[in-house]
Amino acid sequence: MDNEKYQRLLTENVEAKFTQWDAEKIVNESELYTFLHTLKGTAGTIGLHDLAEFCSAHLEILTPDDESAIPISSLKNFKKNVRLLADGNKKKRCNYVLPDLYFDHFDQETFILIIDDDLEFVSFVKELLEQLGAQVLIAMDGKRGIQQFYDMQPNMVMIDLQLPDMTGLEVFEKIRDTASDRHVISILMGSNHSNQVITKAYEAGLMDFIRKPFELDLFLPYLFNRDKWRKAIGQSITTDGLTGVGNRKRLDEILKYCERLSQRTGLPFSVVMMDLDHFKSVNDIYGHPAGDEVLKVFSRIALEETRENDYVFRYGGEEFAILISGDKNEAYTFVERLHESFNTFVFEEGDRSFTVTFSAGIAEYEGRLEMLLIEADQALYQAKRTGRNQSVIFNKNLVQVKRKLQVIIIDDDLLIRTMLEEELRGWSLADIDLSVKMFEDGISFLAADWFDPDTHFIILLDGIMPGMDGLEVLERLKRRPDTNNILVSMMTARTSEQDIKSALWLGADDYIMKPFQKNEILTRIQNLSSRMF
Ligand code: GH3
Ligand code: MG
Ligand code: MG
Repeated sequence: MDNEKYQRLLTENVEAKFTQWDAEKIVNESELYTFLHTLKGTAGTIGLHDLAEFCSAHLEILTPDDESAIPISSLKNFKKNVRLLADGNKKKRCNYVLPDLYFDHFDQETFILIIDDDLEFVSFVKELLEQLGAQVLIAMDGKRGIQQFYDMQPNMVMIDLQLPDMTGLEVFEKIRDTASDRHVISILMGSNHSNQVITKAYEAGLMDFIRKPFELDLFLPYLFNRDKWRKAIGQSITTDGLTGVGNRKRLDEILKYCERLSQRTGLPFSVVMMDLDHFKSVNDIYGHPAGDEVLKVFSRIALEETRENDYVFRYGGEEFAILISGDKNEAYTFVERLHESFNTFVFEEGDRSFTVTFSAGIAEYEGRLEMLLIEADQALYQAKRTGRNQSVIFNKNLVQVKRKLQVIIIDDDLLIRTMLEEELRGWSLADIDLSVKMFEDGISFLAADWFDPDTHFIILLDGIMPGMDGLEVLERLKRRPDTNNILVSMMTARTSEQDIKSALWLGADDYIMKPFQKNEILTRIQNLSSRMF
């Protein structure tokens, strides 16, 4: 049966309802409930499954017999989304049907960065890869792409050969070494590039080149194999490529060894967790190669300072761990020595020179291996919070301070605010202190006193709001000098491609298509937050 006629009828009914509401200026929650309930049934029947799901999600947070009044002005986005979804298949960008077996093929750890300014292509691939279970970030020029690469640590990068500010090959060369150290799958993409260009890329160390337009039947199985390979490599390597010290996997192994040794001999051992101070600024001011040099020098000096039974590891980006065969006081003495040698090392970059400091947290093994790193990390966080460039020894009486994350939702759609707030308030994260703030428009957000230098922020910003639209809010937000710990995700309608593009140009870190599934957005927040700390 041809559903088109019914879809048209449904649209007419929806519009009639909206007109009636506009005239009345308010609607009772119970009436909204009834409307959505009916709409859900009809939509499902005539094949508008996205609309039916959208209704279900909203029904979940409404009460059927609540007579409280909702102002129509707050339903702007809601109406927009209903209209969009009632429009049915027109939103489909291409006819590719994802085989069932591919859904959620990736685990949530799969983080993909696409560096490309062809928005239509990018948003299609993003949507597709997210259906596969991966999370996708987008950078629209090379400079931002490189920054995202270092900040967000993706495990796959797809780079278009032609970017507005540099060539894809130049971007590749700038991230190549780190990418290869971290076993990041780097893919260059291009459409009508000559073999000469591609040969040059291969000569520069590139492994994969893919021609556009993608043949998805080939691309996806290829990508799955690469991902499998990446995981297998990650399992088998225990040395950090950049610095030559052990990696996190090696640390786990040696920790177990130290535990056995200590149980046998009764001798103490301690762990020191270290994090370079203001390392982002080093990258920003002197460039990532200079940052890499700092990491190498740190490892070298740490190795020079350690004694025979001590071990140095790179724990993550600019975080290191050292195992000291000794108690916490011996570990402290060691770190003080390391502070002296490293802090006074002068780095040269062109005609400029600079020095770098680090903070450290120390914990001694007391019978519970699983607590050791957590305690050292707690102490490290103390050291950071209370001024940096110092060492703190973990102590049980120390009030446990968790890292702070605040999710800010700026949206005029009351339903979205309520839904997200309810979900997020129910969350508890092991070592993160999560708070939630809501604003119904950009102006009140900008006027509010929400910022705190010790907190990380994820801001979900609606694209279209009355008064000041999301883009302007974003632009003003990005003028702040202190946006290091702020991630912004724009919530935009599928139809506003230009808005997405502008948002990414203005420095949004991510975007989410509205209407979205509740879980989609929650997973996203979880993933983003895990990359922030
Ligand atoms: P804080 O004193 O609070 O630690 O400030 P910070 O700037 O060091 O904080 P943050 O942990 O947010 O920044 C870490 C930065 O380290 C972000 C990322 O760009 C950079 N980074 C991570 N891995 C690498 C790497 O392999 N090479 C380079 N050059 N930079 C890296
Ligand atoms: Mg850090
Ligand atoms: Mg740091």
